[in-house]
Amino acid sequence: MINITLPDGSVRQYEKGTTAYQIALSISEGLARNVLAAEVNGEVWDASRPIEADASVKLLTWNDNAGKSTFWHSSAHLMAEALEALYPGTKFGIGPAIETGFYYDVDFGDREFSSDDFKQIEDKIIELAKAKSEYVRKPVSKAEAVEYFTEKGDEYKLDLIKDLPDGSITFYTQGNFTDLCRGPHIPNTGFVKAVKLMNVAGAYWRGDESRKQLTRIYGVTFPKASELSDYLKMIEEAKKRDHRKLGKELELFAFSEKVGMGLPLWLPKGTALREKLVNFLQRAQVKAGYEQVITPHIGHKNLYVTSGHYDKYGADSFQPIKTPQEGEEFFLKPMNCPHHCEIYKTKPRSYKDLPVRFAEFGTVYRYEQSGELHGLTRVRGFTQDDAHLFCRPDQVKDEFKKVIDLVLYVFGALGFENFTAQVSLRDPENKTKYIGTDENWQLAESAIIEAAAEKGLPTVVELGEAAFYGPKLDFMVKDALGRKWQLGTIQVDYNLPERFELEYTGSDNQKHRPVMIHRAPFGSLERFVAVLIEHCAGNFPLWLAPEQFIILPISEKYEDYAKKVLESLNNSDIRGLIDLRDEKIGRKIRDAEVKKIPYMLIIGEKEEAEGKVSLRKHGQGDLGSMTAEEFRNQLIKEITV
Ligand SMILES: [Zn+2]
Ligand SMILES: [Zn+2]
Repeated sequence: MINITLPDGSVRQYEKGTTAYQIALSISEGLARNVLAAEVNGEVWDASRPIEADASVKLLTWNDNAGKSTFWHSSAHLMAEALEALYPGTKFGIGPAIETGFYYDVDFGDREFSSDDFKQIEDKIIELAKAKSEYVRKPVSKAEAVEYFTEKGDEYKLDLIKDLPDGSITFYTQGNFTDLCRGPHIPNTGFVKAVKLMNVAGAYWRGDESRKQLTRIYGVTFPKASELSDYLKMIEEAKKRDHRKLGKELELFAFSEKVGMGLPLWLPKGTALREKLVNFLQRAQVKAGYEQVITPHIGHKNLYVTSGHYDKYGADSFQPIKTPQEGEEFFLKPMNCPHHCEIYKTKPRSYKDLPVRFAEFGTVYRYEQSGELHGLTRVRGFTQDDAHLFCRPDQVKDEFKKVIDLVLYVFGALGFENFTAQVSLRDPENKTKYIGTDENWQLAESAIIEAAAEKGLPTVVELGEAAFYGPKLDFMVKDALGRKWQLGTIQVDYNLPERFELEYTGSDNQKHRPVMIHRAPFGSLERFVAVLIEHCAGNFPLWLAPEQFIILPISEKYEDYAKKVLESLNNSDIRGLIDLRDEKIGRKIRDAEVKKIPYMLIIGEKEEAEGKVSLRKHGQGDLGSMTAEEFRNQLIKEITV
């Protein structure tokens, strides 16, 4: 008998050679029907693979990321089976799972291929899925593997086998299709109930432009037909909310090839929104004891040699700026931290001075390949809501708690309610690759875990995900469409204080190294605004809307009264404008709806006579009439809530 430890800590006994499927069956039949694979001692295995010794086992279903990716990778095999059946002689490269589905790189030889072929392939996939063919694992020798694919004439698989050590090679067969693969896979093809091929693109074999270009087919599959239709609806909605599209329609930002790719231009309305965000965070930071600093956009090469950025990123960055004087080199600032370290060093610090917290909305520049650029989410110049906290080791936990409070305040004000905190710790098996003393790491790691627990954050702990210079906490936010974004990072750093020889005088009168904490609740303003646009579909919270109301006079007769109303409103801390165009009122309302302006104030004969306005709310319609004074009070109340 062997002992199987389940995730809840319970231990059950099974016959040697039992499988994850059998373990699931011993718990419940319903669970067994849904088991896709299993994590056995931290490694993902086929649910049908015999377990020969004591092990900890986690059963994986569609609800686990590893279960999903096993499902999608297995679907890549299924698509390959369909392609081989439909187009004999097709050769296959690699077919991995990706974040949303899978792809397979294939060589169709002389055959023309396009998305017109998708329907036929999808139908074939469903037909083969219905056969419920098992994915059968078979270890083979290198010689056998070479023989099989030589006979089949698939040079890509032979190229892959070349790099594999003998004794480690496995084949998987389902139906009539055999693939070289280390696995794991789902039990059988019958789990796949719905498929959609999404896209076709070219991809060089092994990413090497000198080699053959293969056809990459992207697809996605689901265990239920309804999940596919939900997914397709979500994609449609995401297209409508695309921040690049809304950014243009709402006149928030633009790009110009003349200015340079990946360098956003903030238009007046986008700037108003961005400044609101900056002021909002700045006020919260002042309350939390931060001091604002400003540093230049470039820095001397020596700064980045000291910080280590030059060695690590110099070659892949924007190249240095040279001065007329020989040998002087400056770099565009890729990070604010080195500058802030130098600010820390401008005077001696004592243990009583700590923590010090320097905040800067610092614009940084990082080279990204042009193909990687994407709207505001991948740019070459962006502004971080950056701050660096310098504290004593015993203050780390308290500082973390304060930063968590700040991040939660930001999320609350902007309507992000669904998030988890990911705590990234050292790999306990491989402690030597990290810089900093064991004692400090233990202190910081438990400080982060405790701070997250005391603040009641839903937390996932990831071992081995820490940076070499310190553990961190990331906030993973789910947006209105259920997509995950990483926002808000709090990172401990033992490296830069060492490299910049930062010190403080302790109560023992000795010199000590402070701990440095990097943190950015938004991450960057550019990326944050992109996420926010897509999350709220351009309907910003009222306090943030670039224009909170628009006055719509029915005809030019009422312009004077409209101007008076605007004047009385703009005296307060609210923002609006008048639509003075010679257009019908219906048209003016429609245009204001498209611009997602929260309130419309309609003014005609009756309104002027009564000294009132007729109020409409975006997406809701008529709210009746009230005086400008009443509207102002309502708006201010709504903004402060
Ligand atoms: Zn596989
Ligand atoms: Zn930093």
